[in-house]
Amino acid sequence: MKDTQGIAPEEITDQCCDVAIIGAGPAGASGAAVLAEHGRKVHIVEHEPFPRYRVGESLIPHCWFPLDRLGLTEKLDASGFTVHKHSVQFVSTQGVRSKPYYFFQHADHPSSRTWQVVRSKFDQLLLDAAVERGAEVSHETAAKELLWKDGRVTGIRTKSKGGQERILHASVTIDASGRDAFAQARNRWRVPDEDLKKIAIWTYYDGALRDPGLDEGATTIAYLPQKGWFWYLPLANDRVSVGIVGERDYLYKGTREPREIFEREIDAQPWIAEHLAPGKPTGEFRVTSDFSYRSRYCAADGLVLAGDALGFLDPVFSSGVFFALKGGVLAGDAIEAALAAGDVSAKPGLLGQALTHTGRHRHAATLLPRRAPQADRRCGRPAGRPRAARP
Ligand SMILES: Cc1cc2nc3c(=O)[nH]c(=O)nc-3n(C[C@H](O)[C@H](O)[C@H](O)COP(=O)(O)OP(=O)(O)OC[C@H]3O[C@@H](n4cnc5c(N)ncnc54)[C@H](O)[C@@H]3O)c2cc1C
Repeated sequence: MKDTQGIAPEEITDQCCDVAIIGAGPAGASGAAVLAEHGRKVHIVEHEPFPRYRVGESLIPHCWFPLDRLGLTEKLDASGFTVHKHSVQFVSTQGVRSKPYYFFQHADHPSSRTWQVVRSKFDQLLLDAAVERGAEVSHETAAKELLWKDGRVTGIRTKSKGGQERILHASVTIDASGRDAFAQARNRWRVPDEDLKKIAIWTYYDGALRDPGLDEGATTIAYLPQKGWFWYLPLANDRVSVGIVGERDYLYKGTREPREIFEREIDAQPWIAEHLAPGKPTGEFRVTSDFSYRSRYCAADGLVLAGDALGFLDPVFSSGVFFALKGGVLAGDAIEAALAAGDVSAKPGLLGQALTHTGRHRHAATLLPRRAPQADRRCGRPAGRPRAARP
């Protein structure tokens, strides 16, 4: 690890905040909302124009708790882009449906009714909640580099769509960059899951069948003969999200054309074939692969990883958004405690203690000051007064 070098001072402005956040997805927005509520100066950089598309529409009951913390459960119900999800059900390779697993039969709590969401709108709602609490956002601006000083992350270098570069000094940085996994990629922290080398292919249908009554919003997992499965998620406006997850060798046998693979597998799964039959395909197929991985470290001094930037498990449990929301909230509270104590070291500081259950921390003990200052010294100046960065 070396201090940041090679930046031409005259081309770059600089700015200060308590917490810089890379990515405005569920992890970044929930972390930002919590920290802004604590009164911290939070700055998010997001490189895609919002609202932006994301896969991952099926929430799980435990999402209720972070969403309640952010005051969003009623807003979600009133939003018009959700469908209530009471259960998950499984379909055998022969097309036989299991008895639905109703969440309310296992927990008498508002969380037992969850949602299928349109992610572009859901993620915008979360980001709005962060902004309402005072978080600032640089839209269409990418994080380009983590800034390190004496083994501690001190912020990020960013670049806007228009080409303007900036040094964003921060006492703590949250990497919430999703599957781009910014810190993992730059530090070689990525550990792929060799047992979960899968491919996902998915699309959307309008007007496909929904089961009646309480089961209307159920998540259905329909098995394929060779260790693969379909997801089938009824969304708002009569749209269904439907996708396959399977082994690469199996799915790519004979063809690599997503539409052909999809149609072949629909023919192999009678429940899916029957439910899609009256629907109209939207026609666009999306593909992703090798999506299960984790980071070797969950934090470094001045840096916390949250959501998919920390790790991602196969989507079979619909757990991704939950981990992102919960991780963002936990990171927000841990960072607040660390800032209040003036110690943002990953270990043995408060940040490290609060994150101990999520994984290992990167801590170069011999290189580090015992106590990091509450705010980076360069941030003592009034915010927003640009100054050339030091080379
Ligand atoms: C096939 C598949 C199906 C899935 N299905 C489900 C499901 O049904 N339910 C579920 O809960 N989850 C599901 N998931 C997982 C879900 O999509 C993710 O877990 C969730 O989006 C993670 O949220 P996040 O905030 O960590 O990342 P994201 O939602 O990906 O947000 C990260 C943000 O960071 C931004 N960003 C990235 N790099 C930079 C940069 N350098 N500078 C600035 N901004 C940057 C991106 O533009 C993005 O907006 C699925 C995933 C896959 C692959």
